[in-house]
Amino acid sequence: MPVTRTVQAPLPRDAKISFPQFASYGIAMEHLVQRGLDMAFVMPPRMTRRTLEVGARYSPDSVCAPFKLNLGCFLECIELGADTLIQTGGTCRLGYYGELHEQILRDLGKDIRFVNFAACDFSNPKTFVDEFRQLKPDLNLKRFTAAAIQAVRMVNAIDEVDALIRRRIGFVGDPSLLDHIHGRWLEQLRHADGLKQIEQLRRSTIRTIEALPIDMPRHPIRVGIVGEFFTVMDPFSNHEIERELGRMGVLVERWMDISNCLYHYRGRKMLPRIKGYAHYDMGATAMGTIDAALRYAKAGFDGIIHVKSAGCTPEIDAIPALQNISADYRIPILYLSYDTQTSEAGLQTRLEAFYDMISMRKEAQQ
Ligand code: SF4
Repeated sequence: MPVTRTVQAPLPRDAKISFPQFASYGIAMEHLVQRGLDMAFVMPPRMTRRTLEVGARYSPDSVCAPFKLNLGCFLECIELGADTLIQTGGTCRLGYYGELHEQILRDLGKDIRFVNFAACDFSNPKTFVDEFRQLKPDLNLKRFTAAAIQAVRMVNAIDEVDALIRRRIGFVGDPSLLDHIHGRWLEQLRHADGLKQIEQLRRSTIRTIEALPIDMPRHPIRVGIVGEFFTVMDPFSNHEIERELGRMGVLVERWMDISNCLYHYRGRKMLPRIKGYAHYDMGATAMGTIDAALRYAKAGFDGIIHVKSAGCTPEIDAIPALQNISADYRIPILYLSYDTQTSEAGLQTRLEAFYDMISMRKEAQQ
């Protein structure tokens, strides 16, 4: 069902804009707001248990965890001085969350402006430009376009560096070295000025990571992570599952990131590839989940982990297809569903049991 487009009122010059935290992508949003709109941005604080608890306290119980986390994050951004909150919408019920978030914040007495991009079309950047024009009628299109291109390039670079770290973190002697490089990379990227500097930083960071000695077995245990886009990409939401697997010495692959969603997520192209397992687009990123799982199964991965938020209908729909892939390719799949009550210890036990099972199986097969 299409989301109704609302007319956005122009923002005052001194608006303090914020956007809920999502992995490390806030850096790109900050760049777009500061450089493209010439307005102030309030960087959302790192999400913590408090963010989740505050968000859950004021959310309907049945909504998915991303709703609660976003709400908690909005409240923390308001505490830091934000007066204008951006909600982008999405391809599931996330498209309707903006109105609900706004209403809850108003009921809590928060005097904020809410900018909702739910009606924009992610495959058509012009729809975003039109919305930004309403927010800032004197928008300098040249400046805004340059900042938008740089922001997209930042996202691509963040994804590229993250993917490299994912593949190596299980095999470097001291993983904290990678954490240090990652932290420094994001801090430098945050202050990057222009495409050339973004590219220089990307290259030098990749060189630094590749220069760290690694000790990887000839046939490492390989696990593909698939699932719901927010939970799978956001380390806080998935309790840093990739780091945990790395600690166990697992080579982790994950196709789902913003760059792949932007450039390669075409449900119509995926359907023929997965036609033995799904005939219709089930919404959100469920097709990407099935497509990636099938690819990992065909590539002989040792296991797949399906990550989703509790109550996420598109990913619940994907589970029967994953079960069929698991049976056809004899590949184990661990299903993890996260909610506000997910316990660290319970998760750890399940991960360790899965690791023991796939490593024993690999040993027996060799
Ligand atoms: S994809 Fe699922 S978990 Fe994510 S926002 Fe949509 S319904 Fe919620």
